[in-house]
Amino acid sequence: MTDTHPVTRVEALRKTYDHGRVTAVDDVSFEVPVGGSLGIVGESGSGKTTTARMIVGLEEPDAGRILFDGREIGTGGSRRLRRERARTVQLVFQDPYQSLDPRQSAGDAIDEILRLHSGLETSAFDKRRAELLGQVGLGTREAAALPRELSGGQRQRVAIARALAADPRLLVLDEAVAALDVSIQAQILNLLSEIRRDTGVALIFVSHDLEVVRWVADDVVVMFRGAVVERGPTADVLSRPEHPYTRLLLSSVPRLGWDPAQVSQARRDFLATP
Ligand code: ADP
Ligand code: MG
Repeated sequence: MTDTHPVTRVEALRKTYDHGRVTAVDDVSFEVPVGGSLGIVGESGSGKTTTARMIVGLEEPDAGRILFDGREIGTGGSRRLRRERARTVQLVFQDPYQSLDPRQSAGDAIDEILRLHSGLETSAFDKRRAELLGQVGLGTREAAALPRELSGGQRQRVAIARALAADPRLLVLDEAVAALDVSIQAQILNLLSEIRRDTGVALIFVSHDLEVVRWVADDVVVMFRGAVVERGPTADVLSRPEHPYTRLLLSSVPRLGWDPAQVSQARRDFLATP
């Protein structure tokens, strides 16, 4: 493990479904530097989740390679590989109900991952648990609560703490704030930026929402129909988009003076262009 390699690098990833009839991801390549943050944006169906799932090992690519610190982690379900993967990359979903056990308190959910991956015991264990709760801004009351006793934002904080408990080098967040109110979104985005700064964990932040990506991602790739159509530093891509699809995505963000009819027409025009 040296810092001369990007924390992850994906090369020419491809994934089809339905016996090749649906191409979900088509020749996608990018890399994330150690401690870096990459946004993956695109509208629904553009292949973002499939890309994220391949990176964390939940889907097998049809073609292409995924390197972590310059090497591939073998696929397959052996205990050793699963453990190695977990300590490298963790996924946070849109809906933490999917990843949290409804009968398990927030603190117990974090303990479970710490026991599996940290090797810590007694006081060091307790210290690390307190540190994780602090990092995601949860107090002792929340730690004792069940998922349904927490707000959506608090549940997402638990999911993030649980992911961090494995001490991964990379967090992949798939629409992780999409279900939250705008003010809570902002809190979670700030939290993620702080966590990246304080721990050096790299982020891949998947979102349909360009404005969300603006706050967390140094670099961005824009996906359309499974392929990357534009990439670059987030500030540049958002202020001077070059690809018509990126412009379309930007104009689709509701704002003052926004005209939904005009956006729909622009979208139809774009899709009609060969
Ligand atoms: P996004 O996350 O950008 O909305 P997805 O990666 O979920 O996009 O989907 C990309 C494309 O692949 C879509 O056309 C979707 O219908 C298709 N797809 C995704 N998962 C499957 C699956 N398990 N079986 C068949 N088609 C799928
Ligand atoms: Mg998705």
